[in-house]
Amino acid sequence: MNYISNEKIEEILSNIDIVEIIDEYVPLRQVGSNYRALCPFHTEKTPSFYVSREKGIYHCFGCGRSGNAIKFLMEYNNITFPEAMAILAEKAGIKLGNGYEASSGENSYRKILEDAQNYFENSLSGNMGGIAVQYIKNRGISDETVKKFHIGYAPAHGLLNYLGKKGWKTKEILKTGLIVKTEGGEIYERFRNRIMFPIYNTIGKVIAFGGRNLGSDLPKYINSPETEYYKKGHLFFGIYQAKNKIKELDEAVVVEGYIDLISLHQNGIENVIAPLGTALTPKQAQLLKRYTSNVILMFDADEAGLKASERGVNVCLKEGLSVYVVLLEKGTDPDDYIKKYGADALKERIGRKVNFLDFKIELLKNKYNFNDIDQMSRALKEIKEIVLLIPDAIKRELWYKRIAEQFEIPIEAVRTEKTKSIKSAMGEKVTKRNELNSIYANILNIINVAHDKQKFFDYIKTYIPFQYLQEHVIGKIIYDIVLSEKMPSINDMIDTLDEKTRDIIYEGVFMENSPDKLLMQSLKVNWKKLLRIKLKEINRRISNALLYNEDVSEYEEKQSEIIHHLQQIKQEE
Ligand SMILES: [Zn+2]
Repeated sequence: MNYISNEKIEEILSNIDIVEIIDEYVPLRQVGSNYRALCPFHTEKTPSFYVSREKGIYHCFGCGRSGNAIKFLMEYNNITFPEAMAILAEKAGIKLGNGYEASSGENSYRKILEDAQNYFENSLSGNMGGIAVQYIKNRGISDETVKKFHIGYAPAHGLLNYLGKKGWKTKEILKTGLIVKTEGGEIYERFRNRIMFPIYNTIGKVIAFGGRNLGSDLPKYINSPETEYYKKGHLFFGIYQAKNKIKELDEAVVVEGYIDLISLHQNGIENVIAPLGTALTPKQAQLLKRYTSNVILMFDADEAGLKASERGVNVCLKEGLSVYVVLLEKGTDPDDYIKKYGADALKERIGRKVNFLDFKIELLKNKYNFNDIDQMSRALKEIKEIVLLIPDAIKRELWYKRIAEQFEIPIEAVRTEKTKSIKSAMGEKVTKRNELNSIYANILNIINVAHDKQKFFDYIKTYIPFQYLQEHVIGKIIYDIVLSEKMPSINDMIDTLDEKTRDIIYEGVFMENSPDKLLMQSLKVNWKKLLRIKLKEINRRISNALLYNEDVSEYEEKQSEIIHHLQQIKQEE
């Protein structure tokens, strides 16, 4: 029988790396997320032969030849389809067997697992009112979901007996990991008194199981051991049920547990997968890339910092995937979240996902004091290590730019990490901050010593937009005062102020006899200074954005707003 099923072909193609295959014949060089070489099928001086690992295809822009790994081998080696398949199957570690049927070993393995799945499913439905059904009900899992995921129940014993009656030999069953042989030669069933979750490969064949305990047996979850036909780091739980949705939505939600996954799925979030008890592996990231380049991870706020440094994130970035984070409140897993707030709320949270690198930048801002050069350098080093994992040079460059903005240092400093350029940038930053501090402190002081305070409240209300005040610590204090039209006593206020501001206020008390007219002038001078600083900042942003061909309309709006305020002051003078 010279027939290879489409399933088999897909399975083999999904277990090989086209870049690795072609690279053996034509040395490839990485360009962005693709690979390039001189075309082996036509003569050329500049390379136009491209290979995409994600898509599993090659294409020559010179001669137009293209195809997958099978076609490449056939064309390059001038061999037949079965010959090419034999090469690929061997590379994939998948047996084609005689006449290209699955080997008898693999066949038995698959069939035993299918029989076991039937047994577990029947045991669950035969367990009506029992502890397993009760557990499933308590977790809110519907009958429909039970059927969809073929959830079952492994009683304390009975599987071995059942499989024996089906004609399977103990030796064959041992290979599946469903039973275990002790050193003393005793045989027992691996899954006892557990809820059973079949694990499918991408084409919907059960190849392993996960089991959750119902009694006091530990650990809470156990999985099938790795076997000749099952490698846990190569697959996701739920990939078969999720793959079409992942493709359609162009994003995959990664959760930790079986129950989380099933709960999300049941509630209409179907593009969800779970790694099988490991951090994400390169193989898993490559598998995912066939369906999408966007991965969403859910973090519990409590352990967010910890998880952000997990290897899995780096693995995804290294494979060129974009990683996003959804932060859930502490102590909450996705299943809890749905039960508490509903599925729509979770969908909404997923919609507001944050890019992992933005998330990491925020973490660094909290962890390090960016006014300290050494700490700033350390933060920069940490974030750059991550950005350097990204294979695409354009993406990396865009992140450098974002980091430069967020760290408020020039992009050159991000690229080179040279202390000198960081230092000069930080110097500017500190000067700017000091200037702003003293301006706001002066304004606060002016209100404090003014006689007719109402006049000053009115001026600020009319001319200084509240959003300006709210951008600054002391500005916020002024905002509260102006809004309530009440000046707190200095003693009430003093604790909330930093030392420098306190000095300015104390000093001000000694000038209490200044006439209001002079104070009003001083208020205007300070307001003008503030606007000039803001104008300088916005001009810098505009020229920066123009450099990158970005939309500057938002900045220009702010620019004309500031100019308008400046003109207002001039007119009054
Ligand atoms: Zn060509």
